[in-house]
Amino acid sequence: MPLTCDVLIVGGGVTGLSTALHLALRKCGRVRVLERHYVGAGQSGRAAGIIRSTVRHAGLSRWQAESSGFFQKLDEQFGEGIPVHPAGYLLATDQDHSASVDDAIRVATSTGCRVSRIDARQANELQPGLRFDDRTIYAFEPGAVHLDPMEATQALARVVRQLGVEIVEGCEVQRLEVAGSLVRVATETETMESPVVLLGTSCWLPSQMERFGQPLPVRPHRAEMGFFQVPARSDRRLQRIVSDAASGIYLRPEGADQMFVGWREGDWVKSLEDCVQQDPDQGRQTAEFSTVRKMHQALSTTLPWMREGFVHRTFACTYDYSPDGMPILDRLEGPAGLYFAEGFSGGGFSLSPFVGRTMAEYIDTGRRPDDIVELSWQRFREGKTIQWSNN
Ligand SMILES: Cc1cc2nc3c(=O)[nH]c(=O)nc-3n(C[C@H](O)[C@H](O)[C@H](O)COP(=O)(O)OP(=O)(O)OC[C@H]3O[C@@H](n4cnc5c(N)ncnc54)[C@H](O)[C@@H]3O)c2cc1C
Repeated sequence: MPLTCDVLIVGGGVTGLSTALHLALRKCGRVRVLERHYVGAGQSGRAAGIIRSTVRHAGLSRWQAESSGFFQKLDEQFGEGIPVHPAGYLLATDQDHSASVDDAIRVATSTGCRVSRIDARQANELQPGLRFDDRTIYAFEPGAVHLDPMEATQALARVVRQLGVEIVEGCEVQRLEVAGSLVRVATETETMESPVVLLGTSCWLPSQMERFGQPLPVRPHRAEMGFFQVPARSDRRLQRIVSDAASGIYLRPEGADQMFVGWREGDWVKSLEDCVQQDPDQGRQTAEFSTVRKMHQALSTTLPWMREGFVHRTFACTYDYSPDGMPILDRLEGPAGLYFAEGFSGGGFSLSPFVGRTMAEYIDTGRRPDDIVELSWQRFREGKTIQWSNN
């Protein structure tokens, strides 16, 4: 006899866990999360963990604010507090982008986000030792935060367990099929059936959906990052989340003496053709030497005093890129409830509380919440891709 439950979730990252949490709050019956490795083993445990609202898309700006509030209230609501660092977000970009920055500020401000243009002197007070030149303009969002992504993912898992959800680690789903109104899921040791299955498996999801004959327009994209340490005997520190268009990197503090550095991938991944494709199970898990060298050069442009700093460690991971860089939150047409949340394009950590809340509502009521109508899969078939920018 196959094991049954009310909702099966495949993937123990922030998407699956946040949806499990909201399903439990809605009292949606027996919920089970299957994770083939350990909780947070995918992108979730490796994200930069930055949450900010300065984007040129009102919905996205609001969703990010919701997520920031969620993580800040994790202790108050569920007794599982994690450190949330209120570093603020400092954007440095070329004056040619002035109109688009002002537009993002206007849109974000309209949703309640506090962000404004600042001058070079103010930027340097906020982040001593930041590069400046006559062509650079700056904006600052004081409420932006960063947190340790693995700590946050594990905290979510603890809350989910307290709410009665079963999380099974080391449990890979090997087969998935629709049998009438049920979805059947097979692992190495057992077969399970459920009227509702949510796939929250990021870069692994497109191949899992292939068998249903409707390929998702999502590509895996290799992303490399590095932790860099401040030079010995330097009293300079990174104090802010910084995004610098001139060098093409973003960074945030990591502990007292280090910083997380990643590429602003959206600057050059303009379509799926630009993705550096890699099989998530085959790609190298650390950055290439050439990347480390380029990244250090870029870092020394943004923070010239980091020239003497050094790379501490690196890793590489696989993003799930959608054609417009926005997620796809949807379900397969048909009697069975096969839902999926995917295509986060490097931004799914900060969206996870919003995604969990809306996917749980979708699953519970069977009706797509208004907030996610524009995030349907259908938009690509209808040519209604979302226009937005990250600056
Ligand atoms: C370097 C880097 C920096 C980032 N920085 C940020 C940031 O600052 N802000 C932000 O918002 N986002 C950021 N992101 C993106 C963010 O991390 C992801 O969008 C988000 O974590 C995706 O969560 P997920 O749960 O959908 O996927 P994942 O965390 O990848 O989880 C999917 C899980 O599914 C499991 N799985 C796959 N196949 C199976 C199977 N067959 N059976 C069972 N389990 C399976 C995997 O093991 C994995 O644990 C960053 C990503 C990277 C790589």
